[in-house]
Amino acid sequence: MNAKGKIARAKTKRLDPAAAAVRDAGRYMMNTYRRSPLVFVRGKGSYLFDQNGKKYLDFLGGIAVNALGQAHPRLVRVMRRESARTVHVSNLFHHLYQGPLAKRLAEISGMDRVFFCNSGTEAIEGALKLARVAARKRGHNERTRILALERSFHGRTFGALSVTYPVKYREPFEPLVPGVEFVRMNDVAELEAKFDDSVCAIVLEVIQGEGGIYPMSSQFWTRARELATHYGAALIADEIQCGLGRTGRYFGYQRFVGLPDITVVAKPLAGGLPLGAVLAQESFAEALTPGLHGSTFGGGPLTCAMALEFLSIIKDENLLENVRERGAQLRAGLLRLGAQFDFIREVRGEGLIVGVDLTVEGRPYVEAALSRGLIINCTHDHVIRLLPPFNVTKKQVDESLGILQTVLQETKRPIPFHPPASEGDSARALAASR
Ligand code: PLP
Repeated sequence: MNAKGKIARAKTKRLDPAAAAVRDAGRYMMNTYRRSPLVFVRGKGSYLFDQNGKKYLDFLGGIAVNALGQAHPRLVRVMRRESARTVHVSNLFHHLYQGPLAKRLAEISGMDRVFFCNSGTEAIEGALKLARVAARKRGHNERTRILALERSFHGRTFGALSVTYPVKYREPFEPLVPGVEFVRMNDVAELEAKFDDSVCAIVLEVIQGEGGIYPMSSQFWTRARELATHYGAALIADEIQCGLGRTGRYFGYQRFVGLPDITVVAKPLAGGLPLGAVLAQESFAEALTPGLHGSTFGGGPLTCAMALEFLSIIKDENLLENVRERGAQLRAGLLRLGAQFDFIREVRGEGLIVGVDLTVEGRPYVEAALSRGLIINCTHDHVIRLLPPFNVTKKQVDESLGILQTVLQETKRPIPFHPPASEGDSARALAASR
């Protein structure tokens, strides 16, 4: 190569921002994610485009965040408008959107009051603190135990991690918050055995998202509600992944009779911006007084305006109905694939939170789907998870099913997946060995 060529090559190298971004991430970022080398540079609706202009149908939505896909014109308008006004004012003052958003969330959830924060894990922390302080204010200082479910995922901060089940997430960071015990999902007898008047909270996901899209039975919910009422504990519904419309209802628990005492939301709430919220019945919310809990960033004007717009779009575009219809279409298509491929064990879920449970490892299929332009992921090594946007079209669902059909057909069959003697058993063995 002559000198001119070398200079041109060096220039191109320097000028490729995607390659530079990947290089810098590898060199300077902490090693917390196993990332694909793809760089996404823009999106429109249900599609994302990478650095080379290749188009992908996004059925992961930034892990249940982009519920309206990318660049919804109404969200773009609100973001432009508010960012030119004020993005942050602190919680020492009011702004135009926090009160109205709290009102709207109370209306759709059946809760009375709202606290705003920035993420799912922070909302869980707020809910656990609220349950503890409410017990204390009622004179039950000893009521501190917390029940959570096997296969649960509630976040990465210490409190949320303490109620998160997989040993691999918790063990490296122990000691965690004491007093947590896990109950097998849908095992009413175990729930009854572990519940008593030392419990201040039980934390539940009515559809376990990270855990592998496992739905809760109505018997389990009803008994948890009864026991929480009987022992004066808080029933906390974690709706961070399954809530705000994803099941075709505003809240997953609306499938059951009886409300939680506290519910938490985050992921899709502010149309892609970080916003979480703790929603509670007055009988619990009243335990909080100024200074007991707070957040610098929680519920700023930009995020709250975006959340109000997100909730209005769901209503105006009749998206809960679309979630139900497209969800039924997707699950029917996946069941047809299940009849064709014997390594599909089960199709689970409701609305647009769907899991395809495989008897083999899921990752090769996820990678093959990505190379064919479909973004999905895999939880617990063997459950393919699909979280399409609420405004996904019939044609796009068909497109995803077509890609999956090809991928299931053409990918070299991975080795059978053997769960670690059921995760429940390994965690029990670990607990017993301590
Ligand atoms: N709870 C559930 C059910 C979740 O799915 C998640 C994240 O995946 C969290 C809590 C934690 O949320 P975040 O990652 O915003 O802290």
